[in-house]
Amino acid sequence: MCWIPGQARDDKPVYCLLVPVYYLAMSQFRKDPVSGEWVILAPERGLRPHSFKNTKRVLAPKSKCPFEDLMKSGNWPPVLEYDEKGKWQIVVLPNKYPALKHEALCPQELADGPYRVTEGIGYHELLITRDHAKSFPMLPPVHALEVFRLFGERYRTIDKDHCMAYLSVFANWGPSAGASIAHPHYQLMALPVIPPVIQHSYDGSAAYFKKNKSCVHCDIIATERKKKVRIIAENSEAIAMAPFVSRDPYEVKIFPKKHSARFEGSTEAALKGVAVLLQSTLAAMKKKLGDPDYNFYIHTAPLLDQLKYDHYHWHVEVAPKISIPAGFELATGIDINAVDPDTVAKLLR
Ligand SMILES: [Zn+2]
Ligand SMILES: [Zn+2]
Repeated sequence: MCWIPGQARDDKPVYCLLVPVYYLAMSQFRKDPVSGEWVILAPERGLRPHSFKNTKRVLAPKSKCPFEDLMKSGNWPPVLEYDEKGKWQIVVLPNKYPALKHEALCPQELADGPYRVTEGIGYHELLITRDHAKSFPMLPPVHALEVFRLFGERYRTIDKDHCMAYLSVFANWGPSAGASIAHPHYQLMALPVIPPVIQHSYDGSAAYFKKNKSCVHCDIIATERKKKVRIIAENSEAIAMAPFVSRDPYEVKIFPKKHSARFEGSTEAALKGVAVLLQSTLAAMKKKLGDPDYNFYIHTAPLLDQLKYDHYHWHVEVAPKISIPAGFELATGIDINAVDPDTVAKLLR
């Protein structure tokens, strides 16, 4: 049920998505139909004065880059490698400083009074592209697709490890997005549990499917294609949009158009369609938003019980680091977003 401040609350549900909102006279609560999370969209807050200057990202010199001579890093050979003319262009390696380590046995859960402890067993890998200065939007399109193809291979392989429940693939670009190394790289972390944010998404998607007999993301895509307000770009295989319920300013989601629960279950054409839109979205952010740091990540069905999650629709989320969660966000879990997604789509188109 959706409640809009200023309206009387009664027993009849009001569906936010049915209310056309092209001009926001006042701030608005919006509820994500998948995660169930609330967001406050408050464009007026974007007008408030700022007295801080942005800190600019400085790329560390190549001579000090630990990813320039990977063969001597003690981390060679790679798990996966893509070569051209006898030279590696893309590799997947175990992380030298892993948050989780792979073991032959599944982790055991131990109870200690009110605490529950599980061993940190999992996978933590890096995908590294060769060129020190070429981040994802600057890669040749063939390499961007190859990055996605190698992610897919890792999904398929780690899927065979019955101890693992979810594989998270993400990029941290720039220090404010959590990157400690300037050289372009991507991370893969396989976990023995399904992370809560992902579980919320599955639960919302499952509940919507049960009620409507359709995929919530397919319905969102159909709605947005009719409205034509928040679509940033599309091709025959994929679509990029500024979500109606955007938690962060300038957030973008990219979906394959054809319903597919699992990243690794998509066709090469679909992966290519999404990779192309991810490149163009990040390039537009660089040009129009002053080259912000960003994170992007894949949300996909878990490795376990795959048939149970056929209702889900994998996608990529892009979150530029423009605002920092403040006290209200940390205290309540509700984000305040000062940028209307309708304007985001116009700007990035
Ligand atoms: Zn480098
Ligand atoms: Zn779908």
